[in-house]
Amino acid sequence: MKDIFCRIIEGEIPSAKVYEDEEVLAFLDITQSTKGHTLIVPKAHYENYLSTPPELLAHVLEVAQKVGKAQIEAFGAKGTNILSNAGEAAGQSVMHFHLHVIPRYDETDGVHMSFDEHQGTDLQDVASKIKESL
Ligand code: 5GP
Repeated sequence: MKDIFCRIIEGEIPSAKVYEDEEVLAFLDITQSTKGHTLIVPKAHYENYLSTPPELLAHVLEVAQKVGKAQIEAFGAKGTNILSNAGEAAGQSVMHFHLHVIPRYDETDGVHMSFDEHQGTDLQDVASKIKESL
């Protein structure tokens, strides 16, 4: 079965489009966690950024930059977050690669992101394990 974003791309399901070219569609996220919250989606189906070809990934990021600047221009946003969830453990709910571009207005705008600090991690050891896997 086609995922919901494939159906939006094919026009089976309506969306509020903000940008489109041959490879990419950008449309408003239905939740509007803040005003202007936009999803940038490649038209070709890839599950998440990990399986997306690097050139296409770069193009998605290029479109995200345009959209982020436009959100600031249109709504006076004071900043933006870009976010891509990859895998259920990371909170991905639609298994078609997408980048969230979320305009930010202030600390009370309803977006909450926090990172717990883990004291005692051996940074050099962790870094070397990642390096070995690159
Ligand atoms: P994820 O949780 O996978 O990172 O993000 C999926 C996003 O897709 C969610 O923020 C959700 O609001 C959005 N979404 C899910 N279904 C629809 C839909 O039918 N239309 C639109 N515009 N957004 C959707």
